[in-house]
Amino acid sequence: MPQNLLDFDLQGLTAWFTELGEKPFRAKQVFHWIHQSGVADFAQMTDIAKSLREKLQQQAVVQTPAINYAHTSSDGTRKWLFDVGVANGIETVFIPEDDRGTLCVSSQVGCALECTFCSTGRQGFNRNLSVAEIIGQVWVANHSLRGEVNRTSGESAERPVTNVVMMGMGEPLANLDNVVTALGIMLDDHAYGLSRRRVTVSTSGLVPAMDRLAERCPVALAVSLHAPNDALRDQIVPINKKYPLRELMAACQRYLVHAPRDFITFEYVMLAGVNDQPEHARQLIELTREVPCKFNLIPFNPFPDSGYEKPRTDTMRVFREILQDAGYVVTTRKTRGDDIDAACGQLAGKVADKSGRVMKRMNREAA
Ligand code: SAH
Ligand code: SF4
Repeated sequence: MPQNLLDFDLQGLTAWFTELGEKPFRAKQVFHWIHQSGVADFAQMTDIAKSLREKLQQQAVVQTPAINYAHTSSDGTRKWLFDVGVANGIETVFIPEDDRGTLCVSSQVGCALECTFCSTGRQGFNRNLSVAEIIGQVWVANHSLRGEVNRTSGESAERPVTNVVMMGMGEPLANLDNVVTALGIMLDDHAYGLSRRRVTVSTSGLVPAMDRLAERCPVALAVSLHAPNDALRDQIVPINKKYPLRELMAACQRYLVHAPRDFITFEYVMLAGVNDQPEHARQLIELTREVPCKFNLIPFNPFPDSGYEKPRTDTMRVFREILQDAGYVVTTRKTRGDDIDAACGQLAGKVADKSGRVMKRMNREAA
């Protein structure tokens, strides 16, 4: 089997080149070709000696997951459905805006954590994505969008992906090793060169893995809170039984010591009649008193047989105002991109043709 070079960060590629008997600077050159120039064909790597190019052709590939389809919505949102050999595949979504382009990246096929309002969670867990499958999503997006003219700004970008949010399918911190390596490639100046502030990991609250992320690759952190007390969170985010809110809040505080931003973003999916009442907002204020944070309110995105409903607009407004009056910065997702409407938590499968709305919100926030 040829080695897929997308599985390597620069250190790994250098080690592999050394095994081949090649000098480290050759690895750096090839790394540039792959990630900065978006070249997958060794024959096109013109400053590499022909003998090495031939060796690479025999022993290596640069292989992203196969694209099942690519789709552009009327508002310019782009998405790709990738074939990863199992289940419904994974989806990646790109939202272009004037001053940035945000890519929502998946980390697993399915998810084992079974949050009750999430269609990925309902599908169950299939497998972790490899480093090549994670960074391959970034490679494909940059490769396909490079040179395209931005619909609003009228400019074309050499590196269209300026921000990444790990908010696609799966729980990134349950696939920590591969996610950390892929994040490292996103941040590496020899590859995508994104700043830590422009890369966000979203987690449902795997406390030990949050600490490890802080040590190994502290990028911006979003925590899927969704409930202000343990009794409720136990029901809708079952991992809460293992890592209850007190531990989660302490982990957020620890994370902030290393984080590139001085706040945690709390995501809060509003489920009508479940967690959207004024008393829940007041409990949130108590809960997060010691944690510098912002709130992102997401109206529930319905899917068949979910058992939940979207909140009313005025309910959301009251909830938001309680938080704002207490001094919190609160963003609320707007309804845009209706033709491919959906949340990153419910990509692929029956709801594959969805994804715009949450990304608008995430994109604004990750600026
Ligand atoms: N597993 C990670 C990241 C993927 S989910 C996490 O849970 O944070 C990305 C975001 O979409 C999470 O905040 C998740 O709770 C939210 N989400 C999932 N299902 C949703 C739905 N049906 N409607 C709105 N948001 C949803
Ligand atoms: Fe998994 Fe996140 Fe969905 Fe929960 S919300 S089931 S952690 S993908």
